[in-house]
Amino acid sequence: MENCIFCKIAQKEVPSEIIYEDEKVIVFKDLNPKAPVHLLVVPREHIASVRELEEKDKEIIGELFLVAKKVAEKEGIGESGYKLAVNVGEGGGQEVFHLHIHLLGGWKNGKR
Ligand code: 5GP
Ligand code: ZN
Repeated sequence: MENCIFCKIAQKEVPSEIIYEDEKVIVFKDLNPKAPVHLLVVPREHIASVRELEEKDKEIIGELFLVAKKVAEKEGIGESGYKLAVNVGEGGGQEVFHLHIHLLGGWKNGKR
């Protein structure tokens, strides 16, 4: 979608630190990290938010969670544990209107 920063990142029109990518999903570092590990798990397809999800999106939702798990393991936080967060709409703190899961972790000594 035009003027969508995450579409531009997915299409490599805007640079980002890509951690993982496949046909349907891309994972890159958050520009303004709020944890030692802060990644964004993003579908290539433009879906604005959870509010816009439809029946046809069931498969991509599953893919996003499986990729999040895989990448967390690759980043070495699979065992320690991590947080997956999705902000929905302005009231939920969503700022970028292209669906994404925040993958947060890597805190030391149980500190968050
Ligand atoms: P939201 O508040 O929509 O759930 O989260 C959007 C996230 O995207 C924020 O954590 C913000 O730091 C990150 N972000 C915004 N613009 C960019 C960008 O251009 N590149 C990257 N890598 N992250 C971005
Ligand atoms: Zn988009």
